[in-house]
Amino acid sequence: MSGVSSEDGRALRCEAEQVVNEVAQGLCTLNEGTSWFSALSPAGRQAVLQEVASYAMQAHITSADGREGVARSGVKPTANPSVMICMDPPRYGFAALPADEHVKAFRVLVSAFSSADARRRHTYCQGTCGHIWHNLPPR
Ligand SMILES: [Zn+2]
Repeated sequence: MSGVSSEDGRALRCEAEQVVNEVAQGLCTLNEGTSWFSALSPAGRQAVLQEVASYAMQAHITSADGREGVARSGVKPTANPSVMICMDPPRYGFAALPADEHVKAFRVLVSAFSSADARRRHTYCQGTCGHIWHNLPPR
């Protein structure tokens, strides 16, 4: 990834994991998460979009999660990232979108991930699990 060294890349992925899961678990708001994202360099945003897309894939986002996520994200349902997340299966090439769509992509992706992850926490995990990201340390 041009502009992001492997060292910075690792730190950035850690930070992304923390922020995205805090949003998913209601520990911080989507707007707070988006402020963090917006302050990154363009290369950093691309790296984070790839990282969050991998969480979304692991969480098995359905098109229903996509629609719910779009509705909560505040992004228009006709925007490219909204259309992509609602496909069945979803398309995850958000980092390849034009730079001016990255913030929308982040909002849509994190919201849809939150829906899928909430379902998993309430069924499979049931409050007790070994997923590091479901047992976040306090800041
Ligand atoms: Zn869990």
